[in-house]
Amino acid sequence: YASVLSLLDLGGIALRAADRAPTEPIVIAGGPCAVNPEPMAPFFEALVIGEGEEVVHEIMDLLAGFSPPFADAEIRSRFLGELSRIEGVYVPSLWPVEQVGRFIVPQPHSPDKPAVRRRIVEDLDAALFPTRPLVPYRESVHDRAQIEISRGCTRGCRFCQAGIIYRPTRERSVETLRRLANEIIDATGYDQISLSSLSCTDYTRIEELLEGLHQDLSDRRVSIGLPSIRVDAFGVELARRV
Ligand code: SF4
Repeated sequence: YASVLSLLDLGGIALRAADRAPTEPIVIAGGPCAVNPEPMAPFFEALVIGEGEEVVHEIMDLLAGFSPPFADAEIRSRFLGELSRIEGVYVPSLWPVEQVGRFIVPQPHSPDKPAVRRRIVEDLDAALFPTRPLVPYRESVHDRAQIEISRGCTRGCRFCQAGIIYRPTRERSVETLRRLANEIIDATGYDQISLSSLSCTDYTRIEELLEGLHQDLSDRRVSIGLPSIRVDAFGVELARRV
């Protein structure tokens, strides 16, 4: 949280959204930490609750219609009003908060939007996945291709934020993943590909996927990595395929 404030400070942007002039940037946050937005609410014009792949297009379309920088406070506030109508977008300045016991609870400001609902990509298989990522000139951490095979986790460990906020569990199909893997290796030239998910071995077609990727990529000397596995679902057969 403190790094966000340093970032704004270094960028010469007023820390609190309420102190920003109409021509100053609109600052929007998203991702796992924004799922509980209230601690950072004073510093952002808007926070996106949930998954970003679809909502980012809706926000960009809206932004294109307004062509910032905004000429005056009235246009800026009209933009924020429109932004708050997008599902999953929380505009703190429009939600009065009330303390209820130990909690701070935003109160509905419009009958059109009684609550901000978390965005969920319903069809993960059809969702856009970038297959032409930037390839750094020097070696960095996670310096390999990666594809997201599934999202969410069925285990429900009580301490785990990701297990809760990425519900429900969804998977990409083996066919889609093989296509994505080939595209990303073609575009980047990486010799390693990692199958990302909260728990790779819980992917229901993991053996079929590994077999298919092995067929596609072994001649190209591309190795396959499973970065997150649960020991109880890992066996000798799986080890042999990796
Ligand atoms: S991701 Fe890991 S820690 Fe989180 S719920 Fe799943 S198994 Fe548990």
